Amino acid sequence: MRSIGYGASSDASRVGVKLIHPTPAARNMLAADPPPPGEGEERGDFRMTPLEAEIRRIIAVDGPIPVAQFMALALGHPVHGYYAARDPFGARGDFITAPEISQMFGELIGLWAAAAWNEMGGPGRVRLVELGPGRGTLIADALRAVKVAPDFREALAVDLVETSSALRQRQQTTLAHCGVPVCWHASLAEVPEKDPLIVIANEFFDALPMHQAVRAESGWHERMVGIGDDEKLVLALHPDPILNFPAMLPANLGTAPIGAIFEWRSDALVTDIAGRLVEHGGAALIVDYGHAGSALGETLQAVGSHSFADVLERPGEVDLSAHVDFAALGNAAMRAGARVLGPVTQRQFLRELGIETRAAMLETAAGARAAEIDAALARLTEAGPRGMGELFKVLALADPKLGALPGFG
Ligand code: SAH
Repeated sequence: MRSIGYGASSDASRVGVKLIHPTPAARNMLAADPPPPGEGEERGDFRMTPLEAEIRRIIAVDGPIPVAQFMALALGHPVHGYYAARDPFGARGDFITAPEISQMFGELIGLWAAAAWNEMGGPGRVRLVELGPGRGTLIADALRAVKVAPDFREALAVDLVETSSALRQRQQTTLAHCGVPVCWHASLAEVPEKDPLIVIANEFFDALPMHQAVRAESGWHERMVGIGDDEKLVLALHPDPILNFPAMLPANLGTAPIGAIFEWRSDALVTDIAGRLVEHGGAALIVDYGHAGSALGETLQAVGSHSFADVLERPGEVDLSAHVDFAALGNAAMRAGARVLGPVTQRQFLRELGIETRAAMLETAAGARAAEIDAALARLTEAGPRGMGELFKVLALADPKLGALPGFG
C-alpha cells in the first residue's frame, strides 16, 4: 500500500472556509433515537468495512481518487454501497425523509403532478418518473391521491429510477396493488425517450457524487481521497491546479480566499431531464436540502447510527450527502431550454398546495392521533433545527410552453 505522497497534508487540506454549515436538520437525522441493539459496541472501533478494502485497492493501483468517486462508491457500489443492501429510512434507520414523515407530502406532490398534466393539455399518455424512490412511499401516496383525477391516472405509466436492489424490492411490495403499470430502471438514460413526462426527485440530488476543490496559492486543486502516512484514508489535494477553474466559478462568489472550498456536481442529469421536457413536453419537481444561490463552503456530511460521522470512516455503512446547489441546477436547465420556477422553500410550496387544509381534514378523522398530524405538519413546514420548511427547497423545470404551475407564487 503506498502512501499518498503529494499535495497538502491532510490537516492542511481540511483547512477550509466553511461558509455553509450543514445542520442536524439536513437529512433529518434521528439524533434522539438509541442505536439498535447490538450495534453500539461496533461504534468507535477501527474495523475496516469491505468497501474500504476495495477503495484501498483502487487507490493502490490508480492513486488517490476524487471525493466524487469516493462518494459514488460509498453510496452506489452494487454490493457494498450504503444503499445497496439496506433500507436506511425511518425510526430504525439513519434518517427520515418527508414522505416517511407524513402521507400529506406524497399526496400533495401527486396533486401537483395532476395539475402539471392539465397544463400540458391532458395528454392520453404520460410517464411519471421518480428518481430514487426510497421505500416507494411518495409515489404510493401520490397515486392514491390522484384517484380524484381519473383521466390523469388512466394516462399514467410509472418509471422508477433506482440502483439499490434492496430498495427496489421494497418499492415492489409498496406498489404491488397500486393499479398503474410500473417499470424499474437503473438510470434516467434507460427510460424510453417518448411520451411527455413528469419527473419527481425528493432527496435524490443530495446523494449524487459531488466534487470538491480547495483554493490554494497555486490555484484551485481538486480534493482527493488517498492513504495517509498513518495508513488511514485521508483527504488531500491533487498536485496540479484545475485549469481555468476561476472562469467556471459562479460570478456571485467573487474572489475566494486561500483555503476556500467549492463543491459542484455534474450537470449531465439535469441537462438530460430539461432536454426531455423541451422535446417531449412535461415538468419536473426537485425537492432537496440545499442553498438557493451558489456559495463557498463545505457541506459534505456523513450520518450513521443516528449521529454525524467522519466522512472517510466506515465507507458503505454511513450515509453521505451534501447540499444541493439550486442555482447550478436551474442554470443548467435553462441552458438546455427549460423554464425554471423557484427555488421556493418547502414551507411555501406545501402551504400553497394546501397542506394546512389537508392536515385539518386528516386531524378531524384521526381523533386521538390528531397531535401526530400536527407534529408532522410542523416538521415539514417549520424553520429551525428540527424543521424542514426552510432548509429544504423546491425547484420546478418545465417545457416553456406550459403555463403556471402550483406552488411557486
Ligand atoms: N426519495 C426517497 C429516498 C431518498 S434517498 C424519499 O424521499 O424517501 C435516495 C434514493 O436514491 C434511494 O432510493 C437510493 O437508493 C437512490 N439512489 C441513490 N443514488 C442513485 C443513483 N445514482 N441512481 C438511482 N438511484 C439512486
